Amino acid sequence: MSAALEYVLERPPELATSLPLAAGIEWLRLPVPGGLRHINVWLLDDGDGCTLVDTGMNVAESRAAWEGPLGATLRGRPLRRIVCTHHHPDHAGLAAWLAERHGAQVLMTAPEYDLVHYLYASQGDAVEIDARLAHYAANGLLATAENRSILAGEGYLRVMSGLPPVVQILRPGEVLNAGGRRWDVLQLAGHTDGQLLLHDADAQLLIAGDQVLPRISSNIGIYPERRDPDPLDSFLDGFERLAALAPGTLVLPSHGEVFRGLGARLTQLRRHHLERLEVLEGLLQGAPATAAEIALRLYRGALDPLNRMLALGETLAHLRYLEVRGRAAIEAPPTGPRRYLASCGG
Ligand SMILES: [Zn+2]
Repeated sequence: MSAALEYVLERPPELATSLPLAAGIEWLRLPVPGGLRHINVWLLDDGDGCTLVDTGMNVAESRAAWEGPLGATLRGRPLRRIVCTHHHPDHAGLAAWLAERHGAQVLMTAPEYDLVHYLYASQGDAVEIDARLAHYAANGLLATAENRSILAGEGYLRVMSGLPPVVQILRPGEVLNAGGRRWDVLQLAGHTDGQLLLHDADAQLLIAGDQVLPRISSNIGIYPERRDPDPLDSFLDGFERLAALAPGTLVLPSHGEVFRGLGARLTQLRRHHLERLEVLEGLLQGAPATAAEIALRLYRGALDPLNRMLALGETLAHLRYLEVRGRAAIEAPPTGPRRYLASCGG
């Protein structure tokens, strides 16, 4: 599947180590529990200090890495800025902790700041948590105690070291000077509401966050805390922006290896989602079913409660895409969950 992609370094850095990648850029890798196993973060040398792009998750192994080998990569240079590509905990989890230890400033896009702020502000807010549960119940997922705990944000807040003390909002079209380079700020939706990507057009480098990953497809889902009504459309829309970048662009993704072949990867990812849509349309030919039931058919195998929610979110995003385009219909009874079926016209 990845035949068209060229991985430029023979080996990625081991966990909790770093590798020089290009002038002024070091590639650092931190452990992430669960299936992802690692996240790549990028240390940019500003001469009189450093800028870090993404932080790792707030887990003991990552904090130990920063206190040990990764802290040493700073070589005494002050960490002045922390840029978080988005609010997910592997990206922003240690922003508060690192900012406090180093006196660094935190930079994020407005939609991502809004999301992390909302998740902190709503902790313990029974009305908000009930509203999130209602969203899942309307799609056929039971309001179990486990699901309630996930929706209360307990898991998220545990792997965050605190609310990132954001001092600067980065806006699309701005330029960020870091690592001796001029980075254009891009903001793309789909994986989350406003993920930040950094593009150095002169050197053809793209810090891509989770927007384009070489070996896995990032989660594109509908979740109650998000604002985007049609995230799959937003995600595919963003491909046009990325497809316009130079073909030889070196992509620095958050998971997997640095690669060239952005156009080929976009084609693969588009095909993946279009195939998913076709499979879904096939499933809708049977009796009307809830999104949770459809997700079970799409994602076979035993999923833990969190992954069941992610699978439901992803299924909902694809169902919404079909529904908006008249390729799926919804039956919404006055009580009980809504059900999806094939569109009469389609
Ligand atoms: Zn993410």
